[in-house]
Amino acid sequence: MTKRLSLVGLADRLTLRQQTAAMAGLLCIVVVAVSAAGAAWLARRDAVREANLELVALARTMSDRLDQNMFERYREIKNLAEMEPLRGLWQDNPARVRAVLMQLQAGLSDYAWLGLAEPSGNVRAATRGMLEGVSVAQRPWFISGLAGPAVEDVHDAKLLDSLLRKSPDDAPFRFVDVAMPVFGPTGAKIGVLGAHLSWNWAGTLRDNVLRNHDPALASELWVLGSDGTVLLGPKDAKRFGVAEVAGARHGVSFVDRSDDQPMLTALVATKGLDDYPGLGWVVAARRPVDVALAPANRLTAVIALLGLIVAAIGTALAWFLAGTVTRPLRTLCRSVDLIGRDPNAAGIRRQHGSRDILQLSAALRSLLRRLGIAEKGARDAAATIRDVQVQAEKQAREAEEKTRRLGSDLHTLQILADTDPLTGLLNRRAFLPFAEDAMNYYKRYRRNLGVLMFDIDHFKRINDTFGHAAGDEVIRAVSKIIAGQIRTTDKVARFGGEEFVVLLRETDAQGAENLANRIREAIGATVVTQGLSQIELTISVGAAIVCEQDRDIEDVIERADKALYAAKSSGRNRVVLAEAERAAAPADS
Ligand code: GH3
Ligand code: MG
Ligand code: MG
Repeated sequence: MTKRLSLVGLADRLTLRQQTAAMAGLLCIVVVAVSAAGAAWLARRDAVREANLELVALARTMSDRLDQNMFERYREIKNLAEMEPLRGLWQDNPARVRAVLMQLQAGLSDYAWLGLAEPSGNVRAATRGMLEGVSVAQRPWFISGLAGPAVEDVHDAKLLDSLLRKSPDDAPFRFVDVAMPVFGPTGAKIGVLGAHLSWNWAGTLRDNVLRNHDPALASELWVLGSDGTVLLGPKDAKRFGVAEVAGARHGVSFVDRSDDQPMLTALVATKGLDDYPGLGWVVAARRPVDVALAPANRLTAVIALLGLIVAAIGTALAWFLAGTVTRPLRTLCRSVDLIGRDPNAAGIRRQHGSRDILQLSAALRSLLRRLGIAEKGARDAAATIRDVQVQAEKQAREAEEKTRRLGSDLHTLQILADTDPLTGLLNRRAFLPFAEDAMNYYKRYRRNLGVLMFDIDHFKRINDTFGHAAGDEVIRAVSKIIAGQIRTTDKVARFGGEEFVVLLRETDAQGAENLANRIREAIGATVVTQGLSQIELTISVGAAIVCEQDRDIEDVIERADKALYAAKSSGRNRVVLAEAERAAAPADS
C-alpha cells in the first residue's frame, strides 16, 4: 500500500514527458536485457559446444599422433627384425649389428637404446655397447618379444637408468619398449630385437601438438595409462572415473568441476594403428571454462553495450517525441491557468496534436462557454438583487426622511398650535391640559393650585399713543417679566390681547398674592423703549386659589378673572385675591 502510494507520489512529481521517456527507456533496457541474455545464452551454448568440439579434436590429434608415432616405431623395429637381407647379419659380428643399430638410433634420437638379445637373454649387441653381455632375460619386453611382436607400456628404466642418467638429479628415464623376435636365415628364432623409446618423446609430441593447435597455450594435454596412471602430465593429476574413461573410446567432453577452476575436459582414447595394437592410453585435453567461454562473454558484453546505447537513444527519442506530443497539453494548461487571472485571457485556443488533445481542448472550450453563460445569469441576478436593494434602501431612506420631516412638521405644527406667536408663551389651548392635570392632582392628592390673571392697564391707550407695534413690544416685555418670575413647575400662557394667565402649583393664597405683587411691581418698574418712546405701564392682577367648590379648572380661572375685574374696578395696578372663596378655601388662609 505504502509502496503504491509512493509510486503514485512519484508519478505526480514527474511530467508526462518524463514518465513517457522513463518508460520508453525502461522498455528499451528490458528488451535489450532480454535480448542480451538470450544472445548470451545462445553464444555461450555455442561457445561451449565449439570449445568441446575443439577440445575433443585437440585430444584426438594428440591421440592420433601418439598412435602414428608408436606405429612408426613399431613398424621400424618390425621391418628391421623381419628384413630378409639382414637375417644373416644378426648372428654376425656384434660390431656390425651394433653399427646397424646405431645408424637407426642416429636417425631418430628418441631411441634411447636399441639392442639384440640372444634367446638366453644375453645382450649380444647394443647401441654404444650398453648392456652388451648383460642378461635381460627377466625384462618384460624380452619375455614378450620372444613370444612375438610386442610393445611394453611406459615404465621406469631399470638397467639403463644408471648408464643413461648423467647426474642423479636428472629425472629418472622412462621408456616405452618395442620388441620383435628375430629369425636367422633358416627361419629359427635367434633372439629379440628390443628398442627403448624415451618417453620424453611424448612430451615433445605434446608440445608440438599444443603449439600447432592451441597457440594461446590455454589448454593442457595429459596422457593417462590404461590403468589410469598419469603417463604424461602433472603427478597429482586427477584420476577420471571409469564411465568417463569408457566414453573416451569415441571421444567425450564434459566440465570437470573437481578443481578450483571449472575445466572443460575432453577424453579421447588411443586405438592403435594397423598392426600396432595400441597400449590403451587415454588423452585428456583440458581448458579452463572461463577461457573456453571468453569469446561468448566478449560477445555478451558487446551485445549489452550495444543494448545500452540503443536504450539511451530510445530514451532520448522518447523524450523528444513525448515533448512533441505533450506540447499542446502544456499550452492548454497555461491557457487554462490564465483564465480568471489575466483579464485578457478570455478563452482557450483549440489545440492540435492528437485526437485526445483536440477533444480535451474542445471540452474545455465548451465548459468555459457554459460557465460563461452561468456566470452571466448569476451576474444578472446579482445585479437585479443589488438594484432592488438600492431601490428599497432609497425608498426606506426617503420614507424615513418623509416621516422625519412629517414628525418635524408635526412638531412644528404642534409648537405652532400650542404657542402664542407674539410672545412664544403657551396659548390658551395648550395651557388648559396642564391646568386640568394640576386640577386632577388637587382632586386626588389635595395638591394646592392657584391661578393669576394679568391684564395690562389702559393698554388701548398705549396702542393709541405709541402705535400697535409698541403695544406688541410692551406685550412681549410683560410676557418675559412674568415668565422670568415664576417657578419651572408653574406655567404661563397668553390668553389673547394683553391678558396673561399663570398656573401656580403647590401654592397657597399668600404665596400667590406675593408672587402677583412681585410681578406687578416689576412691571410697574419697567420702562419699555420703543424707538424714541419710553413707555411706562402698570398691570392689574386677579388671583384665585382652588377650593372645594371648584368643579374644574375653568371655575378657578373664572374666579381669578372676577378678581381681576375687581382689581380694575378698584383702581388698577393692584392684586385682588378672589375673596369669596377665601373662607371656604381648604388651604391655609
Ligand atoms: P383697562 O384698563 O380697563 O383694561 O383698559 P383698556 O384700554 O386696557 O381696555 P380694553 O380691554 O378695552 O382695551 C384693550 C385693547 O387692547 C383693545 C385692543 O385694541 C388692544 N389690543 C388687543 N390685542 C392687542 C394686541 O395684540 N396688540 C396691540 N397692540 N393691541 C391689542
Ligand atoms: Mg383687557
Ligand atoms: Mg386692559
